[in-house]
Amino acid sequence: MENMKAAVFEGVGKLVIKEVPVPKITRPDQVLIEVEACSICGTDVHITANPPGYIATPNTILGHEFCGIIREKGSQVDQVDIGDRVVVNPNNYCGKCAYCRKNLPNQCEHIEALGIDYDGAFAKYCVVSDKVAYKISKDIDPAIAACAEPLACAVNGLNKVDVKPGDSAVVIGSGPIGLMIAMLLHKSGIDKLYLLETAAKRVEFAKGLGIAKVINPIEEDAKGMIAHETGIGADFVFDVTGSQIVTSVDLARKGGTVVLFGVNKQARREIAQCEITTKELRVQGTWLANATFPQAVKIIESKAIDLRALITDEIGLDQLHTGLESLARGEGIKIIVRP
Ligand SMILES: [Zn+2]
Ligand SMILES: [Zn+2]
Repeated sequence: MENMKAAVFEGVGKLVIKEVPVPKITRPDQVLIEVEACSICGTDVHITANPPGYIATPNTILGHEFCGIIREKGSQVDQVDIGDRVVVNPNNYCGKCAYCRKNLPNQCEHIEALGIDYDGAFAKYCVVSDKVAYKISKDIDPAIAACAEPLACAVNGLNKVDVKPGDSAVVIGSGPIGLMIAMLLHKSGIDKLYLLETAAKRVEFAKGLGIAKVINPIEEDAKGMIAHETGIGADFVFDVTGSQIVTSVDLARKGGTVVLFGVNKQARREIAQCEITTKELRVQGTWLANATFPQAVKIIESKAIDLRALITDEIGLDQLHTGLESLARGEGIKIIVRP
């Protein structure tokens, strides 16, 4: 049997690069993809941390933000073909449960998380259902195409709210998703856009993009600055950290909208509920990608935003640990692995 190199999560704090068998198609709806590029996600950092901030199934190959070329296909595959380049929604859904029928596949009761609970793409090959594979142009740099998954999640959050040209917005957290949201807001004609970030390297990086006023809330009075410049506070506040609901509610204007994006399972915040009531705020959660891959593919193919600017490193599979450490220190932004 043919082998390949893969990054296997063996248990708490243990990620091992080793030889494993090349996966095989076992169902007629599946495709075998040769991975071209797989981006390291913050979730990968949480999974491999000790203690872990996110739980994955031991003995699983990690990696869920990727693109590649279809090399084999099952007998029922008809949406994509051998030789196509595809990006993949790693959260496969059943299509039949109550949530899938309500058009909420991201809330599927039988969701299968590739690269977390099933073998993912920090490897030469990966097998997925054709249902979650989306064709993308071969003119696109694979490193950029690998960003389709986080972009589809960012788009899902933006699709839930009605941002209009001339509005003001704050994005809390300038990791890759925060910066993608900021880029999309900038592109949509937002008047005043603020990025809040406390990690020094990320503050500098965000400033370099030149799309928003970057504020370090530890050193500067974010609320005072935003209130002064907008007159009444921000129309929209996006918390991409998963823990800043109190600050978000504080920065939003009366009648404004707070979008809760990031996930931090440890975060517990005491909040004065009357703030939400009397300010008449709308608080909107958003989770994963919901039928937003086609839109993400179009944004990438049309080069509507400069995703290349977010890619700080491209590394081989053997350097995966170095990449994870760089992200954990808040240094790298998007690090791409080429297996
Ligand atoms: Zn991810
Ligand atoms: Zn379902």
